[in-house]
Amino acid sequence: MGFIDYFRLQFGFKFYSTKQIKAMQFKSIQGLYAKAQASAPYYAQLDPKDGLKDWEDFYRLPLMNKTILMDNFDSINTAGLKRSEVEAFALDKEARKDFTGYFNDRYVVGLSSGTSGNKGLYLTDKALTKRLPFVFLARSGLSLRYLPFRIMFCLRVFSQGFADINSPLIKLNYVSTMTPIEKVIEDLNSKKINVLMAPPSFVRLLLPHRDQIKTKLSCIVCYAEVLTKEEKEKFTHFFGCKVIEIYQASEGQVASACKAGNLHLNEDLIFAELYDLKGDKVTEAGIPGQLVITNLINEVQPLFRYRMNDWVVLKESCPCGSHYRVLDHVIGRQDDVMMFMTSDHTLQHVFPDLISRWIITTSNEIREFKAIQSDVNEFDLSIDCLHPGDQTQLIESLRKRLLSEFEAFKIHPHLHIKVESLSIPKDNSKYKRFEVRKEKL
Ligand SMILES: [Zn+2]
Repeated sequence: MGFIDYFRLQFGFKFYSTKQIKAMQFKSIQGLYAKAQASAPYYAQLDPKDGLKDWEDFYRLPLMNKTILMDNFDSINTAGLKRSEVEAFALDKEARKDFTGYFNDRYVVGLSSGTSGNKGLYLTDKALTKRLPFVFLARSGLSLRYLPFRIMFCLRVFSQGFADINSPLIKLNYVSTMTPIEKVIEDLNSKKINVLMAPPSFVRLLLPHRDQIKTKLSCIVCYAEVLTKEEKEKFTHFFGCKVIEIYQASEGQVASACKAGNLHLNEDLIFAELYDLKGDKVTEAGIPGQLVITNLINEVQPLFRYRMNDWVVLKESCPCGSHYRVLDHVIGRQDDVMMFMTSDHTLQHVFPDLISRWIITTSNEIREFKAIQSDVNEFDLSIDCLHPGDQTQLIESLRKRLLSEFEAFKIHPHLHIKVESLSIPKDNSKYKRFEVRKEKL
C-alpha cells in the first residue's frame, strides 16, 4: 500500500483544483462524522443526528479544544478507550522515558506538552502511523535523486510512531536531542548523513560546530518548533544546503514543504479554518489566523473543528502549482503572544514571530535567545552567542533596536538583556523561546 499511497498523495497534491479539494474534503468529513456518530457517544448526541448534508451543517458544529477533548475523552474516541487507562499508560511511558509499544497492542498514544494538568492525549491507529513514511516522502520536498536517504533524526523522545519508519530506501539514525554535540558530529560524519531532521533549537546548537561537519548535507528538515524565515536563510547559508519544514502537531499532519520549499496545508489529511483575534474567519493571505483543524483521517479519535494553539499566515499561491493552500509562515503559539500597555493606555498584542525577527536580524552572532514577559511592560531577554567574549556592544545595539521597534507601537517596556548559556531542556519538553507568565497579566 505504501507506494500506491505515495502516488495518490502526490497526485492530489499536484493536480486537484480548489473545487476538487473542497469536494474531497467534504466527502471525508461526511464519512468521518457518520462513523463518529455510530461509535462515539459524544458525537451521537450532537446535531445534526442524521449526518452532515452540506458545509453549512459542518460550520454549525461546535468548536472543540483541548479542555473539551480531555473532559469527554471516553465518549469522543470510537474505540471505547478510557482516559484513566490511556493516561496511566502515557504517564508511565514518560516516567520511564520508554516510548515504544502500543496501547492495547493497537494505538499510538501521544501526550501533548502543556502545563501539568493541561496535557492533551491523542490516539492514532497503528495502521495509520504506518503511512507516515510515505506521507513524509511524498510531501517532504526532498528530491528522490538523493535516495537512499541517510537520515539523522533528532527526537526529544522516541515514540513507536517513528520506529516503524524504516525501509531500504530510508535509513534512519536516531539521536536524542540530549546526545552530546561531539557524538552527534561524529555520527553525522561516520554515517555519511545526507538529511538532518531536527527541531530548530537543535540545529542552532550545531551552528558553532559547522566547520567540523564533513558530510555533505543535502537537506535539513525542521519540525516541532517554529522556524522563522530569517533563521531558515541563516541555516541555508551556514550549512550550504536546502532547509525545509514539516508542520506536524499532536492533532494531525498540518503542513509539509513542496519542491519550491513552501509549506502547503495537507488538504487531504486535514481541513483547516483560520480565525482572527475577534473570532472572524480569515481567508485572505497576509492576515494572522488561529488554526482550527478537522483531522480527515483519524477515525479512532475523530476531531472536528479543533482549535489549536497555533497562529499562521496564508500566502497567495505557490510557483509549484499545487492548489493546496500555502502558508507564508507559522507565527507561533497563542500562549506566546505578548500583550503590552501602550502610552495611550490601550493593550497592544505583539506576535512572537515579529519579536524573533527583531532579535535575530540584529546580529548573526545571536545563536539562541529566551524572551520572558513577567509583567505587563517587563521584557527580559537572555541571549546566547556564537562566540565567547565581551558582548557589551551587541547588547547595546539589541537594546536600541528593540526599543525603537516597540516605540512604533507606542510601547515602552522595561528591557533587561543579559548574556547567558541557553540549552535544550533536560526533560522531553520543547525548547521555548518565549514565556509569557500570564497570571501576572
Ligand atoms: Zn508549492
